[in-house]
Amino acid sequence: MAATMTAPSRVNLLGLCREQLEAFFVAWGEKPFRARQLMQWVYQRGVLDFDDMTDISRSLRERMQAHCEITLPQIDSEQRSADGTIKWLLNMGAAQGIEMVYIPEPGRTTLCISSQVGCALDCAFCATAQQGFNRNLSTAEIVGQVLLAKRIVQAEGRHISNVVFMGMGEPLANYRAVVPATRVMIDDLGFGLSRRRVTISTSGLVPQLERLGEDCNVALAVSLHAPDDALRNELVPINRIHPIAELLEACWRYAGRQTSRQITFEYVMLDGINDSLAHADALVQLLRGRPAKVNLIPFNPFPGTRFERSKASVIDAFRERLNTRGVRTTTRRTRGDDIDAACGQLAGRVLDRTRVRLGDKPVRAVSA
Ligand code: SAH
Repeated sequence: MAATMTAPSRVNLLGLCREQLEAFFVAWGEKPFRARQLMQWVYQRGVLDFDDMTDISRSLRERMQAHCEITLPQIDSEQRSADGTIKWLLNMGAAQGIEMVYIPEPGRTTLCISSQVGCALDCAFCATAQQGFNRNLSTAEIVGQVLLAKRIVQAEGRHISNVVFMGMGEPLANYRAVVPATRVMIDDLGFGLSRRRVTISTSGLVPQLERLGEDCNVALAVSLHAPDDALRNELVPINRIHPIAELLEACWRYAGRQTSRQITFEYVMLDGINDSLAHADALVQLLRGRPAKVNLIPFNPFPGTRFERSKASVIDAFRERLNTRGVRTTTRRTRGDDIDAACGQLAGRVLDRTRVRLGDKPVRAVSA
């Protein structure tokens, strides 16, 4: 008995990686190489209109017109920093927005993208956490960010050499959408970036991290921020579920899948909280002799935060301590802070769905 169905919405083809696109066309009775043709039009030639894809038969183009779309996120606003950084607020419907940042540096140009509308992980020092969580982005919304930014900067004679999942959201909490998006980024028919130039940054969702090693072994950054569980439990609450020892074991396994692959440990420098030389020494104990490097991030303040940035001299001393004791450490240059585009300042517009009030106590659901 045929069920009555409402007309399905169009499939945004940016949401399918090459294998998924091949399966899609095969299900239509087409040859798998249609995926290659389509990807070349979209990602290499920048053609988004099916009508212009002239090596695809008219009948298939018409069928795609009827059932598919290639839609990019809408830009609500664009801000340009004195240092060349560009921040966009992208419209995610329902009056919500996510932020995306383009960071030109000598020798590389990095696009920082978001994976969720908001974030549920509640890290104590992060502006996104304050906004709460609304929803996961789809693969098409993630790939769409890269394609959109590429089109804008290309028109200005620039390109994107690196993509980092360091915008809003916890990428590994949106695993199902993030992995195919990452595949499009490293596919020669997609954005053609090397695995080393696509970085997933995670606060430490261990089970997904284990799977990622098998599914898509891209560069990994881990938000460590504290060298012991007591402090990390406070700063990065997911640590209560996956403590440091468990997280680091998963990291070394991840790194072991490919020789000479280093993991970057991000460490936000919070004045008087995690920035003493004793903390540095504890960090050395965890990381020395491992495939690890440390990236110190001077804390970027935002309204309402109780933290302050460590003094420059303290950050320098911390970095020197790690370097002289055998853990390679750099300090991240703060970029775009005049337009609130620096790490942890991305706030977007989120309608929080996770804060449930129990009496006076706000409770945040962690979707790990
Ligand atoms: N959810 C991912 C991506 C977050 S953003 C993760 O946790 O890794 C990328 C980096 O910015 C993370 O290391 C995050 O901890 C850091 N960060 C967050 N808020 C910050 C702030 N206010 N100042 C500096 N760095 C911050």
